[in-house]
Amino acid sequence: QQILAEIRENPSLAWEDFLVVFPEMPSYRTVVKRIFGRMGIPYRMTPGYTLVRDPSIVSVLSIFDLLEAQSWENLMNVFSSPFFDFNPKETARFSLETREEFAGVGFFPEKKWLGRWKNYQKLNKALAGLKKNTGTLSDWSTALLNLIEALGWHGCEAESSSMFYEICENLRGEDVVDRQTFRRILEYALESAEVEKSKGEFGVRIMGVLDSAGIETEIVFFGGATDAALPTAASRHEFFLPDGLKKELGLNHYRLQIARERLDIYRLKCGNRKIFFTYPTKVNGIEQSKSLMLFDLDEFPFDTPPVFSLTGTGRLWRLQDDWEKFMERFYDNGVFSFSATQLDKLATCPFRFYLEEVEGVFPYEVPSIEEDPALWGLIVHRAAQDAAVRFKGMIIDAQSAAGQKQLFEERLEFYLNNPESIDPHRATGFSPVVKEFLKPRVPIICRMFNTLTDQHIGHKIVDVEHKCTETIGKIVLTGKFDRIEENKDLVEVIDFKTGRDFPVVEKNAPDRNKFLDASGNPLPACLRFSNTQFILYYLLAKKHFSKDSLVIAWKLHFQEPDEIEKRYPHISGIADEFEKSIEELAERFLTRNFRFLPSRDNSCYYCDFRDFCPAKNE
Ligand code: SF4
Repeated sequence: QQILAEIRENPSLAWEDFLVVFPEMPSYRTVVKRIFGRMGIPYRMTPGYTLVRDPSIVSVLSIFDLLEAQSWENLMNVFSSPFFDFNPKETARFSLETREEFAGVGFFPEKKWLGRWKNYQKLNKALAGLKKNTGTLSDWSTALLNLIEALGWHGCEAESSSMFYEICENLRGEDVVDRQTFRRILEYALESAEVEKSKGEFGVRIMGVLDSAGIETEIVFFGGATDAALPTAASRHEFFLPDGLKKELGLNHYRLQIARERLDIYRLKCGNRKIFFTYPTKVNGIEQSKSLMLFDLDEFPFDTPPVFSLTGTGRLWRLQDDWEKFMERFYDNGVFSFSATQLDKLATCPFRFYLEEVEGVFPYEVPSIEEDPALWGLIVHRAAQDAAVRFKGMIIDAQSAAGQKQLFEERLEFYLNNPESIDPHRATGFSPVVKEFLKPRVPIICRMFNTLTDQHIGHKIVDVEHKCTETIGKIVLTGKFDRIEENKDLVEVIDFKTGRDFPVVEKNAPDRNKFLDASGNPLPACLRFSNTQFILYYLLAKKHFSKDSLVIAWKLHFQEPDEIEKRYPHISGIADEFEKSIEELAERFLTRNFRFLPSRDNSCYYCDFRDFCPAKNE
């Protein structure tokens, strides 16, 4: 932006009158390409990097990481490298399916599952030559060259590829080494090979500060002048060789380095008309400070707006509610259709509802071992439903209660061993590690289920997983009840909860102003309760069965709680007002008098979008 401003102010300047230097080029190469490309500024970059930093060579080295550990990240690094010839569509599918299949349970290289992917077959075949412990340097060189040929490798640039082949040939020898040693030797050789050819014919000149000696320009930008980068960080040989020896050999040592850097800065300051030193105030969330070498210079902030536009280009991205999409998804024939779960999600956080239900986006999560409440909840729900389904229409007595308890335990064990039977994405099942930490939960959950079943002796099991649809004003509402019982004249809607706490349903609509519509007015009462699902269940059941209903929560949480059943009789007192406010909500949607804003409340803690949400930094 500053380069463009300078050109605007002084039209006699040409692109070649600008010089942009960085303490070291390799880490800035991609940034330069992206920013200059986006701004449309021509540039000529002197790469100034060693072969070990060349992206196409980094891809070759990533093969060694994969041989050490077949982790998801290592596999994806190889499959998604543009320098190998893998089918990119299959790579995208592989990424998606592995993230679904191994979410929460961690990626484990299950051979049968992986073997159905063509990219994996190709990779596995190519790796064969490197899957040994020791070999001569010649053997390793040959195996590596065979591998890159089998994977259709091509280098970033002709110069770097031919240098790489040359190095592999020069490494040949009869010394026997193991794979790690061969890799170290290869890396060391690559580190010594410098790639220097400039990219681009004309434009702003961009290079490392050391390369800029003797270049005369009108305006210089010195980027990345942080305390951490100037004096520059020590390189590998500086750690291992004693200072005395480095001096002796004429190698860089810290005194020489500081002197050289001072000289470079002095040279740039004196030899050019105008110089800008810039540094970021934060890198990866860590505060940065100006280099000590610039202590005598004044500084001023230069704000870079997150979204900017140039003449002739559009906005990069803007978040906005797309009402067309919303209506297409939920509105048809003069009515809106929602499930109780969707409306509950809307009440919890309209922004999250919008992302998931309207845009259909979900966060990109690398598969790792973590608590997966959704899958665990599904297993417990399904086991509890299976336990009751055989006794539908019967009044629970001691015998049928015993039958339910036995079935529940059996089904819980079964789903734990065969999660794929309830979730097709879990074809590989749980890894042994995950199974080990889930197993101790079984007896605890069974104890709770047994007590709850005994407490309901004398009630009639009407149905399990009972679906129903009712209309309220312009909203068609659907719900699925985990278990329906009849006790005297009362319909009991039982919901299984596998979370730690019972849902809270306030006695009145809370007077919260946090959800505002487009005019800044509080939203209808139905979106202000902490839990709307249970009120919706009450309304649905009352209409569906034409009987008075009671919502009950059964807690089946693995940390045995004191209270395992909670009844919500007070819902009948708030249902009428709630029903009216649902009608009001439909009107707000029709008049677009609603905004899908982040809720910023307790639910953020469990939200998958928390790392990407605008509320994150507040
Ligand atoms: S982090 Fe919080 S505010 Fe953001 S989407 Fe999730 S629940 Fe909503």
